[in-house]
Amino acid sequence: MQNFLDTEIKFLKGVGEARAKLLASELEVATFRDLLYYFPFRHIDRSRFYRIEELAGNDMPAIQIKGHFLSFRMEGEGARKRLVGVFSDGRRMMETVWFSKVKQFSEMFKPGIEYVIFGKPSFFNNAWSIAHPEVEVFDAEKPPTGFRGVYSLTETMRKRGFGMRVLQTIIGNLFGNRLFSTIRETLPREIVERYGLMPLQEALRQMHFPDDVRSLQRATERMKFEELFYVEAHILRYSMERGSKLPGYLFPKIGEKFNGFYFNVLPFQLTGAQKRVLKEIRADMKTGRQMNRLLQGDVGSGKTMVAFMSMLMAVDNGFQAALMAPTEILATQHYASLSEWAAPIGVKVALLTGSTRTRERREIHEGLLSGDIHIIVGTHALIEDTVKFRSLGLAVIDEQHRFGVAQRARMWSKNSVVPHVLVMTATPIPRTLAMTVYGDLEVSVIDELPPGRKPVTTLLRFDSNRMEVDRLIVSQLREGRQVYIVYPLISENEKLDLKSLEEGYKRTCETFPSFRVCFVHGRMKPEEKDYQMDLFVRGEARIMVATTVIEVGVNVPNASVMVIENAERFGLSQLHQLRGRVGRGADQSYCILMGKVKSGADTKKRLSIMTETTDGFLISEADMKIRGPGDMEGTQQSGLAFNLRVADLARDGQILTRAREAALAVLRGNVSLLAPGCTPTAPRQGDLPPIALHAEEVAVMAGELSRRFAKTIDWSQIS
Ligand code: ADP
Ligand code: MG
Repeated sequence: MQNFLDTEIKFLKGVGEARAKLLASELEVATFRDLLYYFPFRHIDRSRFYRIEELAGNDMPAIQIKGHFLSFRMEGEGARKRLVGVFSDGRRMMETVWFSKVKQFSEMFKPGIEYVIFGKPSFFNNAWSIAHPEVEVFDAEKPPTGFRGVYSLTETMRKRGFGMRVLQTIIGNLFGNRLFSTIRETLPREIVERYGLMPLQEALRQMHFPDDVRSLQRATERMKFEELFYVEAHILRYSMERGSKLPGYLFPKIGEKFNGFYFNVLPFQLTGAQKRVLKEIRADMKTGRQMNRLLQGDVGSGKTMVAFMSMLMAVDNGFQAALMAPTEILATQHYASLSEWAAPIGVKVALLTGSTRTRERREIHEGLLSGDIHIIVGTHALIEDTVKFRSLGLAVIDEQHRFGVAQRARMWSKNSVVPHVLVMTATPIPRTLAMTVYGDLEVSVIDELPPGRKPVTTLLRFDSNRMEVDRLIVSQLREGRQVYIVYPLISENEKLDLKSLEEGYKRTCETFPSFRVCFVHGRMKPEEKDYQMDLFVRGEARIMVATTVIEVGVNVPNASVMVIENAERFGLSQLHQLRGRVGRGADQSYCILMGKVKSGADTKKRLSIMTETTDGFLISEADMKIRGPGDMEGTQQSGLAFNLRVADLARDGQILTRAREAALAVLRGNVSLLAPGCTPTAPRQGDLPPIALHAEEVAVMAGELSRRFAKTIDWSQIS
């Protein structure tokens, strides 16, 4: 009888074949479960007027308040100029903020008139405020319109008469179904009780049809907890073995390879940050415990050199080292740098990717087994079972977020003793968050760029500035430089995206006829993609028109212009990554963000942060602050291998901490939930004691884990 949730959506009252097709193609809703978990992206409470003193908590819906404007003032300068209004409901005061049409608003509202302001309140700088509220004159005749969820819908759905009302009605039918009550709780009972969580059935109902703000907040918290609990359980299933007492290889000495390289080959001075991180790594390798370290460093901060010199520490102590990159292009580039550095000191480096020919592959396998090859660079081809090492001492994984937890586990299951692991990422994640999400990883940070870099000049431009942008591109091309033109990833609206990409390519070829243009997107065959990328890397193509496939790691120092089309569709951290592709040489480079003239004030404000700073940590912080919890597009931003639908890592740190603590206790109490080969770590001081579950609850959890994360363990998903 459990199959209520897995029932195909066409069987739901009010749906049928035609609407089921639309739900599947437009919203990826195929089953009752999918629809139940298709939550409103925001809620509107027009059922009554709120008092300012009632505002509380994180996830306030949009609400209405009745009162008077007391005063207005201007704050900020230039692009950050804003109008702040002080609004009183007769007892308390709050602020309203406008970022655009500032003058117009300041003259529009009159003192002494009773207004209704409507919007989502947020608590900021110790005060409640609403940004860009809807404002109308209070009308005693106007009836309240209730408390309801607003769902995202597509244009196609609306055109076919599948609007908000219809969606609300069919969702209502789910709750009316007599089998609704058979839905089973997904969280262990003891967890629900310990944390005072709202039970699942009730939470689902409140998410869609809240009784009041407090119930909605509790429901949201429960759904966030559930989501994060399973994310943590998934991570911990694989990483449990990685307690602090795991034995690791000892690399006691700094030897001739390291010193030979450092004193005779190293082509530049290490930055202070690189030296510090190398010392941290060196200290780890002397403890006899296995190193498990996350190395964060902005794009261009020189992580590869740190990786290479750490690898030399392994080689000096008679061990091998591996560097795994997420794409073939990246692996090839790493191989080129590493072999150049390694040759003068007699260290042998090899490259192994999906396209390595059979014969060469066999030679590499032999070389790794005999120990002739000291350092291997490759893609996920490295984790195949046929790849065996004589003595793998250090595994370096570049651009972490492309590999799932399970892949990492495979990398280090190659030895009886787990090798030291160094994970490198340019996606800045606040330290505490990284610790929680990545388990027992220690974190090192390179917070300093090599000297002599000219900061990239970043400009925000619009369609009306095309000519100016084209002129800049031509002048850079004439000076021998190369240019990237990037379009948003082909995804949500595939046809439209592909069309704008192809048009952009055509336009580029026509506008710059004397320069070769290459063309890359994620839906291409890998060989074709590599061929096109290679044209650019070798300098044969001078312009690359691409989607974000180039985001990770391409190093073409001769490229000096990065044009980002539809920049408003990218997250700030992603824009920052893209910008990092230029400014790698000594010359002045440019990043041009092409925005929509019509985009809103928030978007312009967001993009203007990019023109103001090049500090990746500041940018990611700003990104996290700006994105609201209900903002669906924000969820993919964190660079993790899984999608979060309700929770937001930037804002839900406290829930995350509790969810992790709970997951840890549950896994310790139910070893059958761990991945094969993993054993539970003993509780540390402050941990919850292990929680043993009923067999039934274990089965539910196992089911949830495999359902939720089936995709992330599929190796072929990795691009
Ligand atoms: P990322 O951290 O983004 O992976 P890379 O390792 O690719 O950065 O380094 C970017 C560029 O900076 C490379 O060309 C590298 O050789 C160079 N580089 C690294 N460290 C230094 C340094 N200390 N001084 C000067 N150039 C450096
Ligand atoms: Mg790199």
